Amino acid sequence: MKNIQAFKTLIDRPQKVVIVTHFKPDADALGSSLGLAGFLKKKGQAVTVITPSDYPEFLAWMPGNEEVIAYDKKVAERVAALIDTATVIFCLDFSSLSRINDMGELIRNSKATKVLVDHHLEPEQFAEFEQWDVTSASTAGLIFELIEQLGETDLIDTSIASCLYAGLMTDTGGFRHNNTHHREFLIASKLVGRGANPHEIAKDVYDTNTLERLRLTGYVLSQKLNVLPEYRTAYMTLSQDELKQFGAQTGDTEGLVNYGLSIKGVKLSVLMYDRKEEIKLSFRSLEDFSVNEMARKYFQGGGHRNASGGTSRMSLEQTLKKFLEILPEYKEQLQK
Ligand code: 5GP
Ligand code: MN
Repeated sequence: MKNIQAFKTLIDRPQKVVIVTHFKPDADALGSSLGLAGFLKKKGQAVTVITPSDYPEFLAWMPGNEEVIAYDKKVAERVAALIDTATVIFCLDFSSLSRINDMGELIRNSKATKVLVDHHLEPEQFAEFEQWDVTSASTAGLIFELIEQLGETDLIDTSIASCLYAGLMTDTGGFRHNNTHHREFLIASKLVGRGANPHEIAKDVYDTNTLERLRLTGYVLSQKLNVLPEYRTAYMTLSQDELKQFGAQTGDTEGLVNYGLSIKGVKLSVLMYDRKEEIKLSFRSLEDFSVNEMARKYFQGGGHRNASGGTSRMSLEQTLKKFLEILPEYKEQLQK
């Protein structure tokens, strides 16, 4: 952060802090938010974490989860009041206010000082303070480094360390993706030094499946995974009916897209599923093929070069048709 001294002055004074993260938060979004919340509370700040939607059950173990306000119509007034009276608002793990639906405009209009901590491409400029770095694998790692820059890592306890470690672990795909560098292991090492337990956290996040979720995975792999060898592309779709058939809960589709990319020779993998209000798309790619560009250009989305997401307002069938129609544009790049 460029203006770190001014930031230090800001958060050393009593503030009313609101922390928000993106729609359908993942472990990095929620872990960085709860890790930061824990840290700021230790500094004596009043802190509220608000998520724009619900999130998967496999994140509910995170310390501080019970205090999170998940936005829906019932709490809309309370959320609006909290944002309106906040003096500092942190926006974590997303780069544009449009990704947080109704809350985006409330935040834009709020008089609070805004702080952006994020690692996605092409951020919107709306914050007075930015800890923005696309070379960092996780927002949780950026929060850790921010605390380090403040010289206050001694305030990191087991709870804070665990939340941050979970974000780092999942955004690196268990320290396997090409965003895993020396820097990520250094942060991981220091978080473990502050009490994070790698085995326990991996178990809580990855090994708490419901039987239905595993059955859904089995169904997708055996019935729904398609490969187009000429485009080195794998794709899968899931309709509302199929999701209902397996009693799918928020988060149950997370990770499915990675199976496509695990096929030898595949360079691009896409999952599309119907989440009622819209079709959600998840993209993963290898090497220099930018799914960020594809998601941005055709599906109102974005993210990172090799992991992006987007949405479509068309039907699932039409969305698939559109995707198949744009593939030839990328044929040369995919065959490289
Ligand atoms: P996932 O496919 O796991 O939902 O998301 C992959 C990456 O793309 C994450 O970094 C996520 O934040 C980003 N992403 C997912 N959906 C969207 C979207 O609709 N818009 C933008 N800008 N980014 C997205
Ligand atoms: Mn992230």
